[in-house]
Amino acid sequence: MEQLPMRAIGALAAASTLAAASALGVAGAQGSETSAGRGWGDEAGAGIVRSEALGRPLQGWVIALDPGHSGGNTARLGRSVPDGRGGSKACNTSGTATAEGYAEHSFNFDVARRTAKLLRAKGAVVKLTRSDDRAPGPCVDRRGTFAQRAHADAMVSIHGDGSIDTSLRGYHAIVSSPPLNEAQGAPSVALAKAIMRELAGLGFVRNPNYAGGLSKRADIAGVNLTERPTVMMELGEMRNPAEAGTMSSSRGRQRYAQAIARGIVAWAAGQKPGTWDDVGKDRKA
Ligand SMILES: [Zn+2]
Repeated sequence: MEQLPMRAIGALAAASTLAAASALGVAGAQGSETSAGRGWGDEAGAGIVRSEALGRPLQGWVIALDPGHSGGNTARLGRSVPDGRGGSKACNTSGTATAEGYAEHSFNFDVARRTAKLLRAKGAVVKLTRSDDRAPGPCVDRRGTFAQRAHADAMVSIHGDGSIDTSLRGYHAIVSSPPLNEAQGAPSVALAKAIMRELAGLGFVRNPNYAGGLSKRADIAGVNLTERPTVMMELGEMRNPAEAGTMSSSRGRQRYAQAIARGIVAWAAGQKPGTWDDVGKDRKA
């Protein structure tokens, strides 16, 4: 829903063209019209351009983020929507909260906003399933089909959990199982593992209730309906006092966002963006 301004795209295209030409040793790239007026016409300048291009590993990628639940809950929460496996499901639930009353939907939205900023700085186009934390958000089935409608390469749904056992803490990842298409299988598991690796790297603990932190579920519309690599991240337990403290702090939320962004960058490395859209086109052809 949000895009880079055209002049930013133009500058990036010029930068990557220059970097590619320079890397290939193509004569004439320097001093071309794209470098005019930018002071990039010399060798040192081309080096700077090259490092800028390297600093944007998600250039060309479209990432969907789904901040779970929503503010402004209404009666329509209970409305029945397709669950992606032939059954039905409530439009949404209200989500959990900390004992102090910090709502999960606000945590999810803030982490998504922070993650989006980090991903955009890495060159990605980021699309969110909801644009604010006040209005009622889309039902879970619309979130489930969001990634393909947005032509996204991947989607991360952001949640906090609220287990009854308040001694329980840690993150875990939910994927659709058994997978209903290729994207829901190994590519989604790889995305989940990449994000969990970065969460661990930033000092977060893994929920011990799930082997390898992976929860394989058949009942989650948000992952059942996706046609792109998708994971639902339960980042922490909001009823656990220690974890509630982290999740309620802006520093803590920034750290969650960093882990998600780093995980996406790591997952995307060595892959090409747009491959799932190509698969879709082939299937329709
Ligand atoms: Zn949730």
